[in-house]
Amino acid sequence: MKYNWSIIGHEKQLELLENDINFDKLSHAYLLAGPNSVGKHTVARKLAGILQCEKDFCHKCPTCQQISSGSHLDTVELRDEGDSIKIEDVRKLVERCNMTGQSRYKIFLIQGVERMTTEAANSFLKTLEEPPERTVFVLTTNNIRALLPTIVSRVRVVNFQHVSTKYLESKLKDLYSDREDKEIRQVSLFSLGKTGKAIHLMENPASLAKYFEVYRDVQNFLDRKSVVDRFSYVEEIAEDKKQTELFLNILMHVLRSRVLEGKEVDRYLNTLSKIEETGILLKKNINTRLALENLMLII
Ligand SMILES: [Zn+2]
Repeated sequence: MKYNWSIIGHEKQLELLENDINFDKLSHAYLLAGPNSVGKHTVARKLAGILQCEKDFCHKCPTCQQISSGSHLDTVELRDEGDSIKIEDVRKLVERCNMTGQSRYKIFLIQGVERMTTEAANSFLKTLEEPPERTVFVLTTNNIRALLPTIVSRVRVVNFQHVSTKYLESKLKDLYSDREDKEIRQVSLFSLGKTGKAIHLMENPASLAKYFEVYRDVQNFLDRKSVVDRFSYVEEIAEDKKQTELFLNILMHVLRSRVLEGKEVDRYLNTLSKIEETGILLKKNINTRLALENLMLII
């Protein structure tokens, strides 16, 4: 690889991007699609660094540093903070596209592009059709099916997947050689093949402790068979979005382990897809408690 991406896995995807850069095939818009926390947004930022840095993505110059801290003037980020992207946001973005820049490119990183309202997406489409020169859009999504097909057909799609637990474990061992094997093993399992998640847990002991706590909760929860008991747990967590997300993640992890052990495979596979659906519904701000209660009835 020519550039130092400092990313675990995704070699094929990075190679594809490097080829585009090195063989003058750069697209005006990329869509990095795949599950949450596999590193799509990190890749998007690094791609911006590679394109903007005049010294082959040196990680040291002001341009590289500004991009990694999110303060580079010609690299605009729309981060996913749960809100939808409205037509006014797209208009502002288009205005910025048309302003003259000081850098090699004008780059727009849009995290969670599925958050665009239909109106916003239609308006954005016009810019995608006739992008100003030296403008690159790097969009990410965890739900490509929610995008307008007309948007998808105008961007270069790069698909990201989970990495295997074994692979993740071996990479974490290289990166964190001073940490205990047992801890690394548990982090690889908790992360469900999501590299960004794994790094976060390794770097944040408080988050990891919280994971262990919810892990124990989930084990207990699955042993509770009564609907009343389960609903009372839902009531406890439904107010807290982060807690709910964590609960669903760990629930998936535990069920997936049970599938791997060959226990009640069909039932759990069905449940896993229901959990994923519930996760997507919760992102759309529907009634959390109701969505969780529905899920409780089928687990
Ligand atoms: Zn640099």
